[in-house]
Amino acid sequence: MRASRLLIPTQKETPADADVPSHQFMLRAGLIRKVASGMYTWLPVGLMVMRNVEAIIRQEMQRSGGQELIMPVVQPRELWEESGRWEKMGSEMMRMQDRHERDFCMGPTHEEVITDLFRNTIHSYKQLPCNLYQIQTKFRDEIRPRYGVMRAREFTMKDGYSFDLDQDAFDETFDEMHKAYSRILERVGVKFRAVEADSGNIGGAKSFEFHVLADTGEDSIAFSDTSDYAANIEKAEAIAPLPDESEKLRHREMVATPGQKTIESVSKFLEVDKSRSMKTLIVEGEDRLVALILRGDHVLNEIKAQNLPGITSPLTFAQEARINAELGCGVGSLGPVNLNIRIIVDYSAAAAANFVCGANEDGQHFTGVNWARDVSQYETADLRNVLDGDPSPDGSGVLQIKRGIEVGHIFQLGTLYSAAMKASIQDKDGKSIAPIMGCYGMGVTRLVAAVIEQSHDARGIIWPMSIAPFKVHILALNYTKSDQVRRAADLLYKNCQDVNLPVLLDDRPERPGIKFADADLLGIPLRVTLGERTLSDNQVEFETRAGKDKQLVAVDAILETLSQAC
Ligand code: ATP
Ligand code: MG
Repeated sequence: MRASRLLIPTQKETPADADVPSHQFMLRAGLIRKVASGMYTWLPVGLMVMRNVEAIIRQEMQRSGGQELIMPVVQPRELWEESGRWEKMGSEMMRMQDRHERDFCMGPTHEEVITDLFRNTIHSYKQLPCNLYQIQTKFRDEIRPRYGVMRAREFTMKDGYSFDLDQDAFDETFDEMHKAYSRILERVGVKFRAVEADSGNIGGAKSFEFHVLADTGEDSIAFSDTSDYAANIEKAEAIAPLPDESEKLRHREMVATPGQKTIESVSKFLEVDKSRSMKTLIVEGEDRLVALILRGDHVLNEIKAQNLPGITSPLTFAQEARINAELGCGVGSLGPVNLNIRIIVDYSAAAAANFVCGANEDGQHFTGVNWARDVSQYETADLRNVLDGDPSPDGSGVLQIKRGIEVGHIFQLGTLYSAAMKASIQDKDGKSIAPIMGCYGMGVTRLVAAVIEQSHDARGIIWPMSIAPFKVHILALNYTKSDQVRRAADLLYKNCQDVNLPVLLDDRPERPGIKFADADLLGIPLRVTLGERTLSDNQVEFETRAGKDKQLVAVDAILETLSQAC
């Protein structure tokens, strides 16, 4: 295409409200424009990249037995009532009414619609396995849309759903999808890890997330330095340490700690390490409050906590007024001694001896506290986030922690939806059974941003060849002024098109400096620069966006050079 005929509104300045590189470059290179919070228009060049990603996804899904269909964006309430999620979804699901005052939602996901399709069309085991997917717009009214298309409200997802007769058949399908996801990400050209994950409110047992590794990722992922173990930090298990029994038990003493309300200040005031200063967090349980107790240097893992029986999900911290009324002190003075509610202690906290904690009286703490002696009743559980250097839960090596961007998520759903929505089939013996389901999401638009997070430099994007909007960028310097440049550029442009090399010709009447800066920003992998000086020697300049190693190539040989570099 000719740049003069293409809408590429590049801009030099970094937009003020964009704080990660992908968002900045997508705006600056003219790939997207914001319409409202979390809603974007994809401009022609941005859309080319998205379509290239989609093409790879389609090929790999089809190779793994996926069939493409498309379901409506707007979905009726009745289906969501059947699965029980109309209530459960909360305000991330955008709801509306039609002219007859019937309730609908903007589809945040499509389990209900696909299960409805299944029950109306598939009745025999002979029609299984069945694996259906779509690439389509989703709407989630995210509490904090940010980082451009990375966490948008309207975005494109590839979502797939599988139906199998039994667990063995499902395991094969799931494994095939795991492989398909890996192939997609390899072809897109990103460094990624597949990690064990929490299943969230979609439910089901086994689940894996696919993360693109990038410092700006919102998720932390933990993996072993010696084995294959890898998990989202939401899920990564913290191994219970053995209690240190060598220490002599000290007496418990109440000490005045006026005005000291944080772990930081109490530890300093009493001159103890934060690891020996326990924090008590009060959350809502099914009927009464529940105390969660962790070491002061550890961070509560809310997902682990809310997955425990009897704890409200999503995890809800008790209001200060309720704590004061029911427990008789402020949040800064809480502790497990004589605390008359359910107490759950993190494994690491439970291994501590002679620790400090609040005395359940304002301005007072205990020192020298020991679990068995001083706390009459408590449970233990894994409540904390793992830390760099913790032992790997599979017993091999220690954990390292990196940031990742979740671009894909595959879940085992079991019969959660098929049973709730009565999607049954006849098995070989004519018995009616609920099929085993899986679901497979991949954020197409998020993946485009994730690629940029991993592949850019200070000047702009560096597209991997597989998804680049164009493979070749012809920079024709003084195109509108020099007949020699125009003729050579038009010929090379035509030759590229003749051999199906996706090519962008910068034929705009802009200064060379602007053309170079825009080319760096746009990140097209191969660049050919045509100027009068080199052309008079029958040469052009060739370089790659990634390497920048410039070389002069004879005019006659450039097409061959480009074809080989693709
Ligand atoms: P997150 O934890 O990031 O909110 P999720 O668990 O809600 O993700 P899924 O329901 O598993 O996401 O959706 C499948 C995929 O859709 C995700 O892996 C991600 O790539 C993409 N996705 C989810 N939410 C968004 C969003 N707000 N903007 C862009 N892509 C999204
Ligand atoms: Mg989400």
